[in-house]
Formats: sequence, structure tokens, C-alpha cells
Amino acid sequence: MSRYVLALDQGTTSSRAVLFDERGSAVASARQQFTQHFPRPGWVEHDPGEIWDSQLTAARGALERAGVAATELAAIGIANQRETTVVWDRATGEPIRPAIVWQSRQTADLCDRLRERGLEAEIHTRSGLFIDAYFSATKVRFILDAVDGAQARAERGELAFGTIDSWLIHRLTAGQVHATDTSNASRTMLFDIHRGQWDGFLLDALDLPAALMPEVRDSSGEFGVAGAQWLGAGLPINGVAGDQQAALFGQHCFTPGAAKNTYGTGCFLLTHTGAEARPSAHHLLTTAAWGIDGGIEYALEGSVFSAGSTIQWLRDGLGLIKSAAESEALARSVDDSGGVTLVPAFTGLGAPYWDQDARGLLTGITRGTTRAHIVRAALEAIAYQTRDIVECLADDIDTPLDRLRVDGGASANDFLMQFQADVLGIPVERPRDLEVTARGAAGLAGIAGGVWANRDEFAAATGDAGDEATVFEPAMSAAQRDELYEGWKRAVERART
Ligand code: ADP
Repeated sequence: MSRYVLALDQGTTSSRAVLFDERGSAVASARQQFTQHFPRPGWVEHDPGEIWDSQLTAARGALERAGVAATELAAIGIANQRETTVVWDRATGEPIRPAIVWQSRQTADLCDRLRERGLEAEIHTRSGLFIDAYFSATKVRFILDAVDGAQARAERGELAFGTIDSWLIHRLTAGQVHATDTSNASRTMLFDIHRGQWDGFLLDALDLPAALMPEVRDSSGEFGVAGAQWLGAGLPINGVAGDQQAALFGQHCFTPGAAKNTYGTGCFLLTHTGAEARPSAHHLLTTAAWGIDGGIEYALEGSVFSAGSTIQWLRDGLGLIKSAAESEALARSVDDSGGVTLVPAFTGLGAPYWDQDARGLLTGITRGTTRAHIVRAALEAIAYQTRDIVECLADDIDTPLDRLRVDGGASANDFLMQFQADVLGIPVERPRDLEVTARGAAGLAGIAGGVWANRDEFAAATGDAGDEATVFEPAMSAAQRDELYEGWKRAVERART
């Protein structure tokens, strides 16, 4: 009986593959890095061919390590870096230009032009997003403008657009399937998130022919069969989601108000909001969580720009610590931050302030301030910024968060997680297995592929039994919590322009 699920986790700097057994345990994984191209300041590009090669190598590596044959797999799932854009020639299957990566700012001017045309409100109503170079729409426009004759070829139906999921599906199925899932579609700024289809108005606004677009399918469903030439057996692709949505699924956030925060370079906090696409009064993004059983479930998303990167700055910019992990012991070596507050507005401030010109600030320094105080203030700042987003959510949704599930590199820091629980006043829950992104992709695929009957069965299989998850209970008094948070708000005010 084939009962393994292989999750392909195609990230910004590396391609990973994680093999899950039917009990939901990750039994083997492999990772392959690939090249980041920076052709000009602010531009970031990837070679789609290298992404594919690295993903295939990782997939083969994971199977080899596990000693599992492809015939023992039930399904493949894909989680991918979101928004990154590829355009390829349908006849040859080859990209017409390198992929433009989500962080790349090369379409900022195109975004300005959309704003000048007064399209912000219309775009937001339809797509749930705010005009930004992150999203795929202006990247597709850029590629068609940059390559001679591409617009005409697109109009003749000769070209295909895809985010990285579509690109991998295209390669895995040897060009048979041109499809994406609801969650990835919702990050393009071309998708009507309410009706679950490509939006004619948005395509027209960017002069993009509909013939470019992949078919949008349920995140848990059929995406064709990966050819036997790749892994040794023909394998159904049964699950696809953008990485943050996959993590939401992997964290079992299936009901309104269930939320997860991923602490990486920045933080991505997503809250499930049910079958209703909720607008935010605080500029949070309204996005599809996933398409499942023929319907769409939604999420609100907020991000913290500088989280783990603040700790990298302590290490590389200031030389205060040798490793990120050292920050924990240093923070614990003092009772508090000694009145020091760090506002890491290195690239401006996000929700709820939305001040792109704000810059970082260190307040409350005295002659007694030590590096331990500054390191502690940096970790505390990550927790305060997360509270800022949670405050926005509390205002935007009916169901208050009753706990926060966490993952990502910096969630390994127990001091940070305890302080997070303290400043939020709700428990913070960290699963034993932090592979939640791959786990989510495996879940979506395994449910459609018959490994798990439904979400409940998947959650039961992959949930932490008994005391395996670490739960950080809030231990701070409400009065102290409020006082500290007020201090943070005052410091933020001083950092604003
Ligand atoms: P990404 O996927 O964005 O590259 P990861 O999830 O791999 O990020 O997490 C890496 C980030 O987490 C780095 O910015 C690093 O500074 C931070 N980090 C890693 N370990 C710790 C730790 N123990 N304490 C605080 N920050 C940490």
C-alpha cells in the first residue's frame, strides 16, 4: 500500500523535499541551494531551470535517504515561495526571461503608475491586496515589456505565466498541466478572491491577455501526474499552496481565529477567517487560505518586516553576539531591558503604522546599559511588533485569538516565545516538528490522495500527542504587560516621520 507523501518545499534560497509517512512523521529530507541573482540594486532574480533542477535533486535525495521507492508514494504536495513570476514559451517549455523574485523592487515604477491611475481601491476590493511590487501582476507586465515581441506572442496564446508552483507542475507533468492553486492565485493581484477566478478588470488594467493564465484549482485536488522519468514512478500531484498558507494548514489552523506566526527573517502572521473574505481596517492583506472541497477559505495576513533580521544585525552589524542562538542566554542574564527599547524600523514600519520612511531607534540608554540589555530589547521588539499585528486583527475579526501557533527559525528561542506569550496574554504553542510548511503541503496532498480522509484525520495524525508541543503560558500581570506595551508604543512614535 503506498502511504508516503512527498512534500516539495520550494523556498526563496533553497529547494527542500520532506518525506512524510502516514502517521505524519517527517522521515527524511534533503535540501539544495540555488543561485540568487542581483542584476541591479533592488532587483532579485532566479533561474527557473536551476529552481527545477534543485527541486528535483532534493526530491531524489529525500527518497534516497529514506530508502523509500517512488512506488511507495501516494502523492506529491508542493509549497512554494509566493508571488515569484515565470513566463515560458508553451511550445518549447522554456522561460523567456529569468524569474522575478517576490522581494524584487524592479516594478516599483509600474506600481506608482497604477496608483496614479487611481486603481488602488478597485484593486484592493477585487484582489484583497494593496498595490505593491511584491505581487506577480506587475512582474508579468515587466517581463512582457522587457522581451521583444512577448506581448504579441502572449496575445496569440504562445506564452504561459506561472508562479513557482505552476512552473514546477509544468515541469513535473512535462508540459501537460498549466495550473495553480487558489492560494497562489490570490497573491498575483490578478485574482478575484471573492469569485475565485481571474479578474478581467485587473488583467485589462495591466494589459495582460487571459491566454497567459494558468487554470486555478483547489489547493487539495488534482494537478496532474508527475512523469515516471523524474522519481521512478508516475505520481499524482495532489496538493499545492503558497508557503505561508501551507504553514497555516500544517499548523492545523482550520477555524476562524486560528492563527500562526512564522518567525524568520521577518514574521508572517496569518489568521484563518472562515468562508468570508474579510477586509482589514488596518491595511492587512485579505488572502485565500486555500481552496478545498470546491470552496475558498480565507485568511488575513500581517507581516513584521524586521524580526530575525534584527538578530542578524546584532550579530553582523554590531558584533554583539556570535550566533543568533546566543541571544537567548544574554537576554536571560538580565531581569529586564533596563529601560532600553529598540524599534527595528530598518526598512520602515508596517501594520498598523505604515510609515515607510521611519527608521530604527534605540531609546532609554543610560550609563548602565549593557549589550545584554540591547540584545534583550531586540528580542522584545519582535514580540511587540507581533502584538501590533494581533491588535489589528482583534479589531478586524470577530473571534479573538485564543492562542498563537508558532514556527520559523527564531521560534526556537524560548525566551522570545515566553515573552511573546507574556505581551500577548495568550498561550504560544510551538509544535515539536517545526516542518509545518512541508507538513501543510503534505496534508493538502495526502487528503486529496486518500492517505488521510479529511483535515481532522490529518490533524490527528500530525498533531502533537500529550506534552510533545511546547506551550508557553502567559505569566506576566496584565498591568505589567500594558505598561511595557505602552513603552513600546511611545518609542515607536519617536521613530516615526
Ligand atoms: P528564513 O526562512 O526567513 O530565512 P528562518 O526560518 O530560517 O528564516 O529563520 C532564520 C532567522 O531566525 C534568522 O534571521 C536568525 O537571525 C533568526 N534566528 C535563528 N535562531 C534564532 C534564535 N535562537 N534566536 C533568535 N533568532 C534566531
